[in-house]
Amino acid sequence: MELAIEAMRRTVAEPRKDGKTSPLVGAVLCKPDGTVETACRGELRHGDHAEFTLLERKNRSNKLDGSILFATLEPCAPDSRHPPKMSCTERIILSRIKEIWVGIEDPDPKVDRKGIKYLQ
Ligand SMILES: [Zn+2]
Repeated sequence: MELAIEAMRRTVAEPRKDGKTSPLVGAVLCKPDGTVETACRGELRHGDHAEFTLLERKNRSNKLDGSILFATLEPCAPDSRHPPKMSCTERIILSRIKEIWVGIEDPDPKVDRKGIKYLQ
């Protein structure tokens, strides 16, 4: 989680029309082979979630069964994204990650523990 917090500090804030501040988010993936990868929000493209960057942009064709994921912020819940975007919690389940550790619950009412409940 300390590594995830370090990654979180590298978050690239995107320009937003809604006037809100982008959350700082970092994520770490520990694979069964011992390799460790990190990502932060906006690392490769403005607004991309840290988990999305890690799972979809950096590991799209990799088998992630049995990996452990650390995220500083509760991953977004199903229905919190504008269709056809898939939520990070759905991506995590589909990638067969066996364990996830979450730093804090997301106070955004669209998420509000729904992400954690979905993962459980
Ligand atoms: Zn997300």
